[in-house]
Amino acid sequence: MTKKEKEKRQLKYNAPKGIHDILPPDIYLWQKIEKISKNLFEKYGYQEIRTPIIEHTDIFIRSIGEETDIVEKEMYTFLDRAGRSLTLRPEGTASVVRSFVEHNLNTLPTPQKFYYVGPMFRYERPQKGRFRQFYQIGVEAFGEKGPLIDAEVIAMLVNFLNLIGCENVNIELNSIGCETCRPLFKKELINFFSNKLSNLCTDCQRRHKTNPLRILDCKVDGCIENRQGAPMISRYLCENCTVHFEELKNLLNNLNIPYTLNPELVRGLDYYTKTTFEATSNQLGAQKAVAAGGRYDKLVEEFGGPPTSAIGFAIGLERIITLTKEKLTIQYPDPLFFIATIGKEAEMKGLILAENLRQKGYYVEIHYGNASLKSQLRKADRINAKVVLIIGDEELKSGKIKWKNLYTKEQGDVDINAVVSIVS
Ligand code: ATP
Ligand code: MG
Repeated sequence: MTKKEKEKRQLKYNAPKGIHDILPPDIYLWQKIEKISKNLFEKYGYQEIRTPIIEHTDIFIRSIGEETDIVEKEMYTFLDRAGRSLTLRPEGTASVVRSFVEHNLNTLPTPQKFYYVGPMFRYERPQKGRFRQFYQIGVEAFGEKGPLIDAEVIAMLVNFLNLIGCENVNIELNSIGCETCRPLFKKELINFFSNKLSNLCTDCQRRHKTNPLRILDCKVDGCIENRQGAPMISRYLCENCTVHFEELKNLLNNLNIPYTLNPELVRGLDYYTKTTFEATSNQLGAQKAVAAGGRYDKLVEEFGGPPTSAIGFAIGLERIITLTKEKLTIQYPDPLFFIATIGKEAEMKGLILAENLRQKGYYVEIHYGNASLKSQLRKADRINAKVVLIIGDEELKSGKIKWKNLYTKEQGDVDINAVVSIVS
C-alpha cells in the first residue's frame, strides 16, 4: 500500500465544527421533551407546521433585519445551481410568517396557532450552550392584538418549563414599543450615544446611524459599559403600548406567574413590537436564555399579507436538555420477547414467530448467527428482554416451545401459536 493509500484509508471524518450528533440513549430525552411540548401546545390549540429548512435569503434579511448579528455574521448562505441565494434557516418565525402569507392562512378563523420543532443554523463561535446547528421548539399565534394572548403564550411557556422540571427559570419582560413611540426613543438613543461613539465597537458606530436599538443588544464589553445610563424605552411608550403592557403585567399577576421587568431587553431581531420576553436560568452560565420571544405586529404586512398581529417564542432545546438531563426519567424501550434458537430450521421458525409477534405490536429481538444457548441467554439478559422463547429440535417436533420470564424467573412450555398468552 502506498503512503497516500494508507493516509486515505485512515482518514477520519468528524461532524462539522459546532454541529453534533444526537445518539441513543440521549435521543429518548429529546423525544420525551418534544412529546411533552406537543401534548401541551395542542391543549392550547396549536397545530404543527413544518416549513422548509432552506428559504430565500431575502426572507431572513427582511424580517430579522440587515443590521443584526444573525444577518451580518451568522447566516449559512449559498447560491444554488441556478444562482439563487438560499439560506439555512437561522430561526423559525420568518419561515412561518412567509408560509402564513403564501397560503393565505389569515382566511382561517383567528387566532391561528402553530408550533414547530426543528434544527436552526447560525455560524457562531461554538461554546457551551452555543452551537452552529441547534434545535428549537417554537410557537407562533396570529390574529390577536390584545394582551390576553401575550399572557397565555407566556403562561404556556412557563407551564412547559414546569412540566419538564426546569426549575429556577425567570421570565424577563419588557415592551419595546411600536412604530408610534419607537422613533422618539431612537432619537434619544442617538443623542445619548453621539458623544460616546469612539468608545463603541465599529459595528455599533455604524448601527448608531442605521439601527441604534441594536447597540443595546451588543455583546462587546466596551459597548456594554458605555450604555450605562442610556435612555429606557419604558419611559417613551405611547398610550397604546403602555396600556397593553400594564394589562399584560396585570394578567400575569393574576395568573401568579412571576416575572422580572428588564427594561434593557430589546432582543437580537428587528421584527419585535411591544411585548418581548426571555426565560433565563441561573444554572447555565453565560448562555442563560432557554427561550425567548415577543410580539411582531408588523411582520405579516412586511411579507405582503394583511395587517395581522402576532406573537411567538422559541425554546433552545440543547439548553433545556442541559437543565433537565438529571431530572427527567426516561423509559427505554425493552424487548418483550427474545427468541433464542438452536439450528438452522429453528432459526427460520424463530424469524417467522418474531414477525408474527411484531405484527401484533410486540417488541421482539432475535438472535443472529451461530451461538451457544448460554450466550444467547446472556444476550437476552443484557438487552433487558422480559421473556425468552427457546426453539430447538424438540420444540420443532412438538410445536411447543420453552419460555422463561427473566424478570420473575417463571418458566414453562407454550404452543408456538399461543405465545401471546404468556404475557396477557
Ligand atoms: P442568545 O442571546 O443566547 O444568543 P438569541 O437571542 O440569539 O440567544 P433567539 O434567536 O431568541 O436567541 O433564540 C431562542 C433560543 O434559542 C435562545 O434562547 C437559546 O435558548 C436558543 N439558541 C439561540 N442560538 C443558539 C445557538 N447558537 N446554540 C444553541 N441554542 C441557541
Ligand atoms: Mg444569539
